Amino acid sequence: MKEIEIPAEKLPVVEEADLCVIGGSCTGVFAAIRAARLGAKVVLIEKQNRFGGVATSGLVCMWHSLFDITGEKQIIGGLTFEALERLEKRNAVSPFRDGHGYRHIAFNSEELTLELDAMVTESKRIRTFFHTIFSRPILDGDGKITGVIAENKSGRFVIAARMFIDASGDGLLCRAAGVPMTAPAHPQPPTACAHIENFRNMKDLNLKELIEKNRSLIPDLPCGYYWGCDIPGSEHIYLFAGTRIMNCNCMDANEITNAEFESRRQLRALMDLFRKSYPEASVSLQALPSAIGIRESWHITSIGRLTGKEMLAGTRYPDTIANGTYPVDIHGNEDDSITFKHLTGERKTFRSNRLVKEDRWLPEGQILPFYRIPLRCLIPPGNRNLIAAGRMLDADAEAFGAVRVMVNLNQCGEAAGVTAWLALQNQIPPAEVDSAKVRELLNQGGSLLEL
Ligand SMILES: Cc1cc2nc3c(=O)[nH]c(=O)nc-3n(C[C@H](O)[C@H](O)[C@H](O)COP(=O)(O)OP(=O)(O)OC[C@H]3O[C@@H](n4cnc5c(N)ncnc54)[C@H](O)[C@@H]3O)c2cc1C
Repeated sequence: MKEIEIPAEKLPVVEEADLCVIGGSCTGVFAAIRAARLGAKVVLIEKQNRFGGVATSGLVCMWHSLFDITGEKQIIGGLTFEALERLEKRNAVSPFRDGHGYRHIAFNSEELTLELDAMVTESKRIRTFFHTIFSRPILDGDGKITGVIAENKSGRFVIAARMFIDASGDGLLCRAAGVPMTAPAHPQPPTACAHIENFRNMKDLNLKELIEKNRSLIPDLPCGYYWGCDIPGSEHIYLFAGTRIMNCNCMDANEITNAEFESRRQLRALMDLFRKSYPEASVSLQALPSAIGIRESWHITSIGRLTGKEMLAGTRYPDTIANGTYPVDIHGNEDDSITFKHLTGERKTFRSNRLVKEDRWLPEGQILPFYRIPLRCLIPPGNRNLIAAGRMLDADAEAFGAVRVMVNLNQCGEAAGVTAWLALQNQIPPAEVDSAKVRELLNQGGSLLEL
């Protein structure tokens, strides 16, 4: 490949902060808010025009229950709860205040965008850069990050800070700062969602059968699997998640470009099929995501990997910073299968929306009310002034299949923000922060960790 040498350049340092957070999903926003509420001066860099990541730009408008699976005990509070309370005032969220009768919390992604704006701007210590892409870190001789280079339409510039949180999903800052990374052997496939009007008018829709009936017209449409939900506040708009890009390396720019094309091609084929098969339903495509939803790319190597074996044994880690109940949910990378390992002890595999295998992974009568996530899997090794929060956390395939959902990662973001604050206060690397103090501060801010 041809190469061009770029001459050295001087860049302006436009902000000097205590903490710089890369990526403004709820993970990054909650990290920034937690640190700012404790007193840190924070810069938040987001490449889109809004906060929320997959929950807004990706249209994925579903969080999961804040209660353990018995429904008796609330296990998730903090900023997730605060955001839901705010959405409730706008009639933009389904019930979330009790633990019985539902496991899903649907919300309006556009309203979440507005609430995240309010939550961040209410905190006077956070400076946001939208439309700004983190490009690379500036490292000193010891591998510590002294600043990051970012770019936007004003040009290329530096944010200097003493501590950094990588909430970019892909772990871009970690990778560029030399943190060892691993690519999963079978990454979960990316999906572009859509908002479809009058989807529910297709009353007897069986997508798999519909696709097979029309196979000659759409020979290369892979998916029969879909899920979705009604959007609170709307009577007609449905979130449809029914595309799947197999074998995609989401860290490769060409592959992710092709995945955007391919997912939209799948959506158009599906829309044509719906219109042809249900002409009376008046289905209409109302919105596409501004970025395809990435379930999994690379993971950091941390000071302590989270394993499914330990987590699903109900381990009480001394550095627990999050609680979760979402089942192990692994989307096949070769076909449209999906396997759930529920905390009730049931294990079910579906192919093309049909149950093909069912057994138990826990003895009859035994359940796991909830699992815990430790701080260690967010902390890169060494003396780095860096914490990773989000789906790049260090987890094996089984643990990742469960912890990857937003109510879990939101809590990881909060923990990263608190850990960053304590590391700054004590002038120590995040790896040396006292996790008991992290947990104490998290609970003071509304988290519901067992102390
Ligand atoms: C189709 C699909 C359906 C899902 N369904 C659910 C569900 O129903 N419920 C659930 O809870 N979870 C669901 N998940 C999982 C969940 O959405 C993700 O695991 C989670 O959003 C990941 O959060 P994150 O903060 O790590 O990354 P993201 O949400 O991807 O956020 C990363 C942020 O970083 C920004 N960013 C990236 N690179 C840069 C850069 N260079 N400079 C500046 N900013 C940058 C991005 O714009 C983005 O805002 C789903 C995922 C997918 C893809």
